[in-house]
Amino acid sequence: MTFDTLGLSDKVLSAVRRAGYETPTPIQSQAIPVALKGRDVLGIAQTGTGKTASFVLPMLTRLERGRARARMPRSLILEPTRELAAQVVNEFETLGAEHKLTVALLIGGVSFDEQDRKLDRGADVLIATPGRLLDHFERGKLLLTGVEIFVIDEADRMLDMGFIPDIERISSLIPPRRQTLFFSATMPPEITRLANKFLRDPERIEVAPPNTTVDSIEQVLCYVPKNPKDKRAALRKIMSEQPVQNAIVFCNRKRDVAILQRSLKKHGFNAEAIHGDLSQHQRMATLDAFRNGEITFLAASDVAARGLDIPEVSHIFNYDVPVQPEDYVHRIGRTGRAGRKGYAATLVTSEDMRAISAIQKLVRKEIDWLGDPPSSQNREDNARRGRKRGRDKARDSGDAKRKKRSAPARPKKRTSDEKPAKKDVSGKRTSSAKEAPRKNAPVVGLGDHVPDFLKRPARP
Ligand code: AMP
Repeated sequence: MTFDTLGLSDKVLSAVRRAGYETPTPIQSQAIPVALKGRDVLGIAQTGTGKTASFVLPMLTRLERGRARARMPRSLILEPTRELAAQVVNEFETLGAEHKLTVALLIGGVSFDEQDRKLDRGADVLIATPGRLLDHFERGKLLLTGVEIFVIDEADRMLDMGFIPDIERISSLIPPRRQTLFFSATMPPEITRLANKFLRDPERIEVAPPNTTVDSIEQVLCYVPKNPKDKRAALRKIMSEQPVQNAIVFCNRKRDVAILQRSLKKHGFNAEAIHGDLSQHQRMATLDAFRNGEITFLAASDVAARGLDIPEVSHIFNYDVPVQPEDYVHRIGRTGRAGRKGYAATLVTSEDMRAISAIQKLVRKEIDWLGDPPSSQNREDNARRGRKRGRDKARDSGDAKRKKRSAPARPKKRTSDEKPAKKDVSGKRTSSAKEAPRKNAPVVGLGDHVPDFLKRPARP
Protein backbone atom coordinates (compact mmCIF):
# COMPACT_ATOMS: atom_id res chain seq x y z
CA MET A 1 0.00 0.00 0.00
CA THR A 2 1.25 3.49 -0.86
CA PHE A 3 -0.05 6.96 -0.05
CA ASP A 4 -0.90 7.49 -3.76
CA THR A 5 -3.85 5.10 -3.59
CA LEU A 6 -5.61 6.77 -0.66
CA GLY A 7 -7.25 9.66 -2.56
CA LEU A 8 -5.10 12.50 -1.14
CA SER A 9 -4.48 15.64 -3.19
CA ASP A 10 -1.25 16.13 -5.18
CA LYS A 11 -0.12 18.89 -2.87
CA VAL A 12 -0.57 16.68 0.17
CA LEU A 13 1.20 13.75 -1.50
CA SER A 14 4.16 15.91 -2.33
CA ALA A 15 4.41 17.09 1.33
CA VAL A 16 4.14 13.47 2.52
CA ARG A 17 7.08 12.52 0.30
CA ARG A 18 9.10 15.44 1.60
CA ALA A 19 8.34 14.41 5.19
CA GLY A 20 9.92 11.06 4.35
CA TYR A 21 6.80 8.95 4.95
CA GLU A 22 6.95 6.05 2.52
CA THR A 23 4.14 3.72 3.50
CA PRO A 24 0.97 4.60 5.36
CA THR A 25 0.64 3.10 8.83
CA PRO A 26 -2.45 0.87 9.41
CA ILE A 27 -4.52 3.68 10.98
CA GLN A 28 -3.62 5.95 8.05
CA SER A 29 -4.48 3.45 5.32
CA GLN A 30 -7.85 2.75 6.93
CA ALA A 31 -8.90 6.18 8.22
CA ILE A 32 -7.77 8.44 5.36
CA PRO A 33 -10.12 7.12 2.60
CA VAL A 34 -13.10 7.21 5.00
CA ALA A 35 -12.31 10.72 6.25
CA LEU A 36 -11.87 11.97 2.68
CA LYS A 37 -15.43 10.90 1.91
CA GLY A 38 -16.65 13.14 4.73
CA ARG A 39 -17.72 10.29 6.98
CA ASP A 40 -17.31 10.22 10.76
CA VAL A 41 -14.45 8.13 12.15
CA LEU A 42 -14.02 6.39 15.47
CA GLY A 43 -10.30 5.65 15.60
CA ILE A 44 -8.97 3.44 18.36
CA ALA A 45 -5.25 3.88 18.18
CA GLN A 46 -2.37 4.70 20.44
CA THR A 47 0.05 7.57 20.09
CA GLY A 48 2.93 6.37 17.98
CA THR A 49 0.78 4.63 15.40
CA GLY A 50 0.73 7.63 13.07
CA LYS A 51 -2.78 8.69 14.10
CA THR A 52 -2.06 12.44 13.89
CA ALA A 53 -1.31 12.24 10.16
CA SER A 54 -4.40 10.04 9.75
CA PHE A 55 -6.57 13.10 10.43
CA VAL A 56 -4.20 15.88 9.32
CA LEU A 57 -3.76 14.54 5.76
CA PRO A 58 -7.47 14.23 4.85
CA MET A 59 -8.16 17.57 6.54
CA LEU A 60 -5.52 19.28 4.39
CA THR A 61 -7.02 17.77 1.25
CA ARG A 62 -10.58 18.75 2.18
CA LEU A 63 -9.65 22.27 3.28
CA GLU A 64 -8.00 23.08 -0.07
CA ARG A 65 -11.40 24.25 -1.25
CA GLY A 66 -12.88 27.32 0.48
CA ARG A 67 -11.54 30.17 2.58
CA ALA A 68 -11.62 31.08 6.25
CA ARG A 69 -13.64 34.01 7.56
CA ALA A 70 -12.71 36.22 10.51
CA ARG A 71 -13.40 34.56 13.86
CA MET A 72 -15.06 31.61 12.13
CA PRO A 73 -12.60 28.70 11.92
CA ARG A 74 -13.34 25.98 9.38
CA SER A 75 -12.00 23.12 11.44
CA LEU A 76 -11.29 22.46 15.10
CA ILE A 77 -8.93 19.97 16.73
CA LEU A 78 -9.22 19.50 20.49
CA GLU A 79 -6.21 18.21 22.39
CA PRO A 80 -5.89 17.45 26.11
CA THR A 81 -2.50 19.09 26.69
CA ARG A 82 -0.67 22.15 25.45
CA GLU A 83 2.27 20.06 24.31
CA LEU A 84 0.12 17.78 22.23
CA ALA A 85 -1.66 20.77 20.69
CA ALA A 86 1.68 22.34 19.83
CA GLN A 87 2.80 19.10 18.21
CA VAL A 88 -0.26 18.92 16.00
CA VAL A 89 0.65 22.43 14.82
CA ASN A 90 4.12 21.08 13.93
CA GLU A 91 2.53 18.24 11.97
CA PHE A 92 0.42 20.80 10.05
CA GLU A 93 3.54 22.81 9.33
CA THR A 94 5.36 19.75 7.97
CA LEU A 95 2.51 18.17 6.03
CA GLY A 96 0.80 21.41 5.02
CA ALA A 97 4.01 22.99 3.75
CA GLU A 98 2.50 23.51 0.29
CA HIS A 99 -0.80 24.90 1.55
CA LYS A 100 -1.52 28.47 2.46
CA LEU A 101 -3.75 27.53 5.35
CA THR A 102 -3.85 29.59 8.52
CA VAL A 103 -3.38 27.51 11.63
CA ALA A 104 -4.17 29.02 15.04
CA LEU A 105 -3.06 27.49 18.30
CA LEU A 106 -5.22 28.31 21.31
CA ILE A 107 -3.60 27.06 24.49
CA GLY A 108 -3.47 28.34 28.05
CA GLY A 109 -0.41 29.78 29.75
CA VAL A 110 0.34 32.28 26.97
CA SER A 111 -1.16 35.70 26.22
CA PHE A 112 -4.50 36.11 24.46
CA ASP A 113 -3.32 38.93 22.14
CA GLU A 114 -1.48 36.92 19.52
CA GLN A 115 -4.26 34.30 19.55
CA ASP A 116 -6.89 37.05 19.08
CA ARG A 117 -4.99 38.45 16.10
CA LYS A 118 -4.88 35.02 14.44
CA LEU A 119 -8.60 34.54 14.99
CA ASP A 120 -9.37 37.99 13.55
CA ARG A 121 -7.42 37.17 10.39
CA GLY A 122 -9.49 34.01 9.94
CA ALA A 123 -8.19 30.52 10.80
CA ASP A 124 -8.63 27.48 8.58
CA VAL A 125 -7.50 25.19 11.36
CA LEU A 126 -7.93 25.81 15.07
CA ILE A 127 -5.94 23.58 17.39
CA ALA A 128 -6.94 24.09 20.99
CA THR A 129 -7.13 22.83 24.53
CA PRO A 130 -10.78 22.92 25.75
CA GLY A 131 -10.37 25.53 28.51
CA ARG A 132 -8.69 28.21 26.43
CA LEU A 133 -11.08 27.65 23.53
CA LEU A 134 -14.06 28.31 25.80
CA ASP A 135 -12.31 31.40 27.23
CA HIS A 136 -12.09 32.86 23.72
CA PHE A 137 -15.69 31.93 23.01
CA GLU A 138 -16.91 33.61 26.19
CA ARG A 139 -14.96 36.76 25.37
CA GLY A 140 -16.91 36.90 22.10
CA LYS A 141 -13.82 36.38 19.96
CA LEU A 142 -14.90 33.17 18.34
CA LEU A 143 -17.85 31.59 16.53
CA LEU A 144 -17.93 27.86 16.01
CA THR A 145 -20.82 27.81 13.53
CA GLY A 146 -18.42 27.60 10.55
CA VAL A 147 -16.65 24.44 11.73
CA GLU A 148 -16.90 21.72 9.07
CA ILE A 149 -14.45 19.21 10.55
CA PHE A 150 -14.27 18.55 14.29
CA VAL A 151 -11.47 16.35 15.68
CA ILE A 152 -11.44 15.08 19.26
CA ASP A 153 -8.03 13.58 19.92
CA GLU A 154 -6.94 11.46 22.92
CA ALA A 155 -10.52 11.28 24.20
CA ASP A 156 -9.62 8.95 27.07
CA ARG A 157 -7.05 11.43 28.28
CA MET A 158 -9.66 14.20 28.09
CA LEU A 159 -11.79 12.04 30.36
CA ASP A 160 -8.91 11.57 32.84
CA MET A 161 -8.32 15.29 32.93
CA GLY A 162 -11.98 16.14 33.55
CA PHE A 163 -12.55 17.83 30.17
CA ILE A 164 -15.68 15.92 29.17
CA PRO A 165 -18.21 18.63 30.23
CA ASP A 166 -16.16 21.22 28.26
CA ILE A 167 -16.14 18.98 25.20
CA GLU A 168 -19.88 18.42 25.40
CA ARG A 169 -20.36 22.18 25.57
CA ILE A 170 -18.01 22.84 22.63
CA SER A 171 -19.72 20.13 20.62
CA SER A 172 -23.10 21.80 21.19
CA LEU A 173 -21.70 25.04 19.68
CA ILE A 174 -20.75 23.35 16.40
CA PRO A 175 -23.47 22.69 13.80
CA PRO A 176 -24.55 19.03 13.66
CA ARG A 177 -23.83 18.73 9.92
CA ARG A 178 -20.08 18.75 10.62
CA GLN A 179 -17.77 15.76 10.16
CA THR A 180 -16.43 14.36 13.46
CA LEU A 181 -13.20 12.40 13.81
CA PHE A 182 -12.87 10.88 17.28
CA PHE A 183 -9.66 9.22 18.52
CA SER A 184 -8.89 7.38 21.71
CA ALA A 185 -6.24 4.87 22.77
CA THR A 186 -8.64 3.07 25.09
CA MET A 187 -12.43 2.73 25.13
CA PRO A 188 -13.73 2.80 28.72
CA PRO A 189 -17.57 2.92 28.97
CA GLU A 190 -17.70 6.70 29.42
CA ILE A 191 -15.80 7.19 26.17
CA THR A 192 -18.09 4.77 24.32
CA ARG A 193 -21.05 6.82 25.56
CA LEU A 194 -19.47 10.02 24.26
CA ALA A 195 -18.57 8.47 20.92
CA ASN A 196 -22.18 7.34 20.50
CA LYS A 197 -23.35 10.84 21.31
CA PHE A 198 -20.98 12.77 19.03
CA LEU A 199 -20.63 10.52 16.01
CA ARG A 200 -23.10 9.81 13.22
CA ASP A 201 -22.81 6.35 11.69
CA PRO A 202 -19.04 6.31 12.18
CA GLU A 203 -16.57 3.93 10.62
CA ARG A 204 -14.90 2.18 13.54
CA ILE A 205 -11.19 1.69 12.92
CA GLU A 206 -9.15 -0.20 15.45
CA VAL A 207 -5.51 -0.68 14.61
CA ALA A 208 -4.55 -2.69 17.67
CA PRO A 209 -6.85 -4.14 20.30
CA PRO A 210 -7.46 -1.47 22.93
CA ASN A 211 -4.87 -1.40 25.70
CA THR A 212 -2.31 -3.52 23.98
CA THR A 213 1.24 -2.32 23.68
CA VAL A 214 3.13 -2.44 20.41
CA ASP A 215 5.27 -5.51 19.80
CA SER A 216 8.34 -3.52 18.82
CA ILE A 217 8.77 -2.44 22.46
CA GLU A 218 10.88 -4.71 24.63
CA GLN A 219 9.32 -4.53 28.08
CA VAL A 220 10.98 -5.61 31.31
CA LEU A 221 10.25 -5.43 35.03
CA CYS A 222 13.01 -5.00 37.61
CA TYR A 223 12.49 -5.88 41.25
CA VAL A 224 14.12 -3.09 43.29
CA PRO A 225 14.33 -1.96 46.93
CA LYS A 226 11.64 0.33 48.26
CA ASN A 227 13.79 2.93 49.93
CA PRO A 228 14.37 5.88 47.57
CA LYS A 229 18.17 5.96 47.82
CA ASP A 230 18.57 2.29 46.86
CA LYS A 231 15.81 2.58 44.29
CA ARG A 232 17.60 5.47 42.59
CA ALA A 233 20.85 3.47 42.63
CA ALA A 234 19.02 0.54 41.00
CA LEU A 235 17.66 2.88 38.33
CA ARG A 236 21.13 4.25 37.57
CA LYS A 237 22.45 0.71 37.21
CA ILE A 238 19.70 -0.28 34.76
CA MET A 239 20.13 2.95 32.81
CA SER A 240 23.90 2.51 32.56
CA GLU A 241 23.54 -1.02 31.21
CA GLN A 242 21.36 0.14 28.31
CA PRO A 243 22.50 1.78 25.07
CA VAL A 244 20.37 4.85 25.76
CA GLN A 245 20.08 7.41 23.00
CA ASN A 246 17.52 9.42 24.89
CA ALA A 247 15.03 8.41 27.54
CA ILE A 248 12.04 9.55 29.53
CA VAL A 249 12.01 8.58 33.20
CA PHE A 250 8.50 8.64 34.63
CA CYS A 251 7.60 9.31 38.26
CA ASN A 252 4.13 9.33 39.78
CA ARG A 253 4.62 12.54 41.78
CA LYS A 254 5.87 15.95 40.70
CA ARG A 255 8.02 16.17 43.83
CA ASP A 256 9.79 12.94 42.92
CA VAL A 257 10.39 14.17 39.36
CA ALA A 258 12.38 17.08 40.78
CA ILE A 259 14.28 14.93 43.31
CA LEU A 260 15.12 12.29 40.73
CA GLN A 261 16.29 14.83 38.17
CA ARG A 262 18.65 16.46 40.70
CA SER A 263 19.98 13.08 41.77
CA LEU A 264 20.57 11.95 38.18
CA LYS A 265 22.35 15.17 37.42
CA LYS A 266 24.52 14.77 40.51
CA HIS A 267 25.53 11.33 39.28
CA GLY A 268 26.58 12.65 35.90
CA PHE A 269 23.43 11.94 33.84
CA ASN A 270 22.42 14.70 31.45
CA ALA A 271 18.89 15.06 32.85
CA GLU A 272 16.21 17.76 33.07
CA ALA A 273 12.68 17.70 34.47
CA ILE A 274 9.26 18.35 32.98
CA HIS A 275 6.02 18.40 34.95
CA GLY A 276 2.78 20.35 35.31
CA ASP A 277 4.15 22.93 37.77
CA LEU A 278 6.60 24.41 35.29
CA SER A 279 5.54 27.37 33.18
CA GLN A 280 4.53 26.77 29.59
CA HIS A 281 7.66 28.56 28.48
CA GLN A 282 9.92 26.34 30.61
CA ARG A 283 8.19 23.17 29.44
CA MET A 284 8.52 24.09 25.77
CA ALA A 285 12.18 25.06 26.17
CA THR A 286 12.99 21.77 27.95
CA LEU A 287 11.11 19.77 25.33
CA ASP A 288 12.94 21.55 22.51
CA ALA A 289 16.29 20.83 24.15
CA PHE A 290 15.28 17.18 24.52
CA ARG A 291 14.22 16.97 20.87
CA ASN A 292 17.50 18.55 19.73
CA GLY A 293 19.51 16.08 21.75
CA GLU A 294 20.91 18.69 24.16
CA ILE A 295 19.24 16.73 26.97
CA THR A 296 19.45 12.93 27.11
CA PHE A 297 17.20 12.10 30.05
CA LEU A 298 13.87 13.71 30.76
CA ALA A 299 12.39 13.09 34.20
CA ALA A 300 8.65 13.49 33.70
CA SER A 301 5.27 13.24 35.37
CA ASP A 302 2.19 11.83 33.66
CA VAL A 303 0.91 15.25 32.62
CA ALA A 304 3.87 15.36 30.28
CA ALA A 305 3.31 11.75 29.22
CA ARG A 306 0.60 12.17 26.66
CA GLY A 307 1.47 13.34 23.23
CA LEU A 308 5.14 14.07 23.58
CA ASP A 309 5.95 13.64 19.93
CA ILE A 310 9.60 12.71 20.04
CA PRO A 311 10.06 9.99 17.42
CA GLU A 312 13.52 8.87 18.49
CA VAL A 313 12.93 8.10 22.18
CA SER A 314 14.96 4.94 22.58
CA HIS A 315 14.09 4.13 26.20
CA ILE A 316 11.37 4.55 28.79
CA PHE A 317 12.12 4.00 32.45
CA ASN A 318 9.21 3.84 34.86
CA TYR A 319 10.82 4.87 38.13
CA ASP A 320 7.35 4.36 39.65
CA VAL A 321 4.76 1.85 38.52
CA PRO A 322 1.86 4.00 37.25
CA VAL A 323 -1.21 4.04 39.49
CA GLN A 324 -3.59 3.73 36.53
CA PRO A 325 -2.75 0.74 34.31
CA GLU A 326 -3.80 2.78 31.24
CA ASP A 327 -0.97 5.20 31.99
CA TYR A 328 1.49 2.37 31.50
CA VAL A 329 0.28 2.01 27.90
CA HIS A 330 0.57 5.73 27.34
CA ARG A 331 3.97 6.04 28.96
CA ILE A 332 5.64 3.27 27.03
CA GLY A 333 3.90 4.47 23.84
CA ARG A 334 6.67 7.14 23.75
CA THR A 335 9.12 4.52 22.51
CA GLY A 336 8.95 2.00 19.66
CA ARG A 337 7.05 4.50 17.51
CA ALA A 338 6.22 4.03 13.84
CA GLY A 339 7.80 0.57 13.80
CA ARG A 340 11.10 1.51 15.48
CA LYS A 341 12.56 -0.68 18.24
CA GLY A 342 11.87 0.51 21.75
CA TYR A 343 12.70 -0.46 25.31
CA ALA A 344 10.69 0.09 28.47
CA ALA A 345 11.91 -0.91 31.94
CA THR A 346 9.67 -0.64 34.99
CA LEU A 347 11.02 -0.56 38.54
CA VAL A 348 8.87 -2.67 40.84
CA THR A 349 8.96 -2.74 44.64
CA SER A 350 7.25 -5.20 46.95
CA GLU A 351 4.31 -2.79 47.19
CA ASP A 352 3.69 -2.67 43.44
CA MET A 353 2.84 -6.31 42.77
CA ARG A 354 -0.88 -5.71 42.59
CA ALA A 355 -0.45 -2.76 40.19
CA ILE A 356 1.80 -4.91 38.00
CA SER A 357 -0.86 -7.64 37.83
CA ALA A 358 -3.41 -5.03 36.73
CA ILE A 359 -1.05 -3.79 34.01
CA GLN A 360 -0.35 -7.30 32.73
CA LYS A 361 -4.07 -7.98 32.65
CA LEU A 362 -4.70 -4.79 30.70
CA VAL A 363 -1.96 -5.35 28.13
CA ARG A 364 -2.80 -9.07 28.02
CA LYS A 365 0.82 -10.01 28.35
CA GLU A 366 3.26 -11.41 30.92
CA ILE A 367 6.12 -8.94 31.12
CA ASP A 368 9.57 -10.51 31.62
CA TRP A 369 11.67 -9.84 34.69
CA LEU A 370 15.15 -8.46 34.28
CA GLY A 371 17.15 -10.38 36.90
CA ASP A 372 15.42 -12.40 39.59
CA PRO A 373 11.64 -12.28 39.70
CA PRO A 374 10.18 -11.72 43.15
CA SER A 375 8.67 -15.22 43.42
CA SER A 376 6.15 -15.74 46.14
CA GLN A 377 8.83 -17.92 47.78
CA ASN A 378 11.24 -14.96 47.87
CA ARG A 379 8.62 -12.70 49.37
CA GLU A 380 7.76 -15.33 51.97
CA ASP A 381 11.46 -15.70 52.82
CA ASN A 382 11.80 -11.95 53.22
CA ALA A 383 8.77 -11.83 55.46
CA ARG A 384 10.11 -14.74 57.54
CA ARG A 385 13.52 -13.08 57.81
CA GLY A 386 11.76 -9.90 59.00
CA ARG A 387 9.86 -11.86 61.67
CA LYS A 388 13.02 -13.65 62.80
CA ARG A 389 14.89 -10.36 63.11
CA GLY A 390 12.03 -9.08 65.28
CA ARG A 391 12.19 -12.17 67.53
CA ASP A 392 15.99 -11.94 67.90
CA LYS A 393 15.69 -8.33 68.91
CA ALA A 394 13.00 -9.13 71.46
CA ARG A 395 15.14 -11.96 72.86
CA ASP A 396 18.20 -9.71 73.11
CA SER A 397 16.33 -7.05 75.04
CA GLY A 398 14.69 -9.74 77.20
CA ASP A 399 18.11 -11.17 78.05
CA ALA A 400 19.36 -7.76 79.07
CA LYS A 401 16.41 -7.25 81.37
CA ARG A 402 16.74 -10.71 82.84
CA LYS A 403 20.40 -10.11 83.63
CA LYS A 404 19.40 -7.04 85.62
CA ARG A 405 16.66 -8.77 87.52
CA SER A 406 18.08 -12.30 87.61
CA ALA A 407 14.54 -13.62 87.46
CA PRO A 408 14.08 -17.34 88.28
CA ALA A 409 11.84 -18.37 85.38
CA ARG A 410 12.65 -17.63 81.75
CA PRO A 411 9.67 -15.70 80.44
CA LYS A 412 8.11 -16.74 77.18
CA LYS A 413 8.54 -14.19 74.37
CA ARG A 414 5.43 -12.34 73.40
CA THR A 415 4.58 -11.78 69.78
CA SER A 416 2.48 -8.90 68.63
CA ASP A 417 -0.56 -11.02 67.84
CA GLU A 418 -0.78 -12.50 71.33
CA LYS A 419 -2.97 -10.69 73.81
CA PRO A 420 -1.24 -10.02 77.13
CA ALA A 421 -4.39 -10.47 79.26
CA LYS A 422 -4.66 -14.06 78.14
CA LYS A 423 -1.29 -15.06 79.54
CA ASP A 424 -0.22 -15.61 83.07
CA VAL A 425 2.93 -14.06 84.39
CA SER A 426 5.09 -17.02 83.52
CA GLY A 427 3.94 -16.84 79.96
CA LYS A 428 1.46 -19.76 80.00
CA ARG A 429 -1.85 -19.17 78.29
CA THR A 430 -4.75 -18.83 80.74
CA SER A 431 -8.26 -19.96 80.03
CA SER A 432 -10.11 -19.57 83.30
CA ALA A 433 -10.43 -17.40 86.39
CA LYS A 434 -8.37 -19.90 88.40
CA GLU A 435 -5.42 -19.28 86.15
CA ALA A 436 -5.46 -15.52 86.66
CA PRO A 437 -2.08 -13.76 87.24
CA ARG A 438 -0.37 -14.71 90.48
CA LYS A 439 0.35 -11.84 92.79
CA ASN A 440 4.06 -12.05 93.54
CA ALA A 441 5.54 -13.63 90.44
CA PRO A 442 7.91 -11.54 88.28
CA VAL A 443 6.08 -9.57 85.65
CA VAL A 444 7.62 -9.24 82.22
CA GLY A 445 7.06 -5.97 80.46
CA LEU A 446 5.38 -4.26 83.39
CA GLY A 447 8.27 -4.32 85.87
CA ASP A 448 7.39 -5.18 89.45
CA HIS A 449 4.28 -3.12 89.44
CA VAL A 450 1.05 -5.02 88.79
CA PRO A 451 -1.81 -2.75 87.79
CA ASP A 452 -5.06 -3.25 89.71
CA PHE A 453 -7.02 -4.45 86.74
CA LEU A 454 -4.71 -7.45 86.42
CA LYS A 455 -5.30 -8.41 90.02
CA ARG A 456 -9.03 -8.68 89.55
CA PRO A 457 -10.21 -12.23 88.75
CA ALA A 458 -11.07 -12.62 85.07
CA ARG A 459 -14.67 -13.42 84.30
CA PRO A 460 -15.09 -16.85 82.72
P1 AMP B 1 1.67 9.86 16.03
O1 AMP B 1 1.11 8.50 16.34
O2 AMP B 1 0.77 10.65 15.19
O3 AMP B 1 2.12 10.58 17.26
O4 AMP B 1 2.99 9.63 15.12
C1 AMP B 1 4.16 9.07 15.61
C2 AMP B 1 5.38 9.43 14.76
O5 AMP B 1 5.38 8.70 13.54
C3 AMP B 1 5.46 10.90 14.38
O6 AMP B 1 6.77 11.33 14.65
C4 AMP B 1 5.21 10.93 12.89
O7 AMP B 1 5.95 11.97 12.30
C5 AMP B 1 5.66 9.58 12.43
N1 AMP B 1 4.87 9.05 11.29
C6 AMP B 1 3.55 9.18 11.09
N2 AMP B 1 3.18 8.54 9.97
C7 AMP B 1 4.27 7.97 9.47
C8 AMP B 1 4.54 7.17 8.28
N3 AMP B 1 3.57 6.84 7.46
N4 AMP B 1 5.80 6.78 8.07
C9 AMP B 1 6.78 7.12 8.94
N5 AMP B 1 6.62 7.87 10.03
C10 AMP B 1 5.38 8.29 10.29
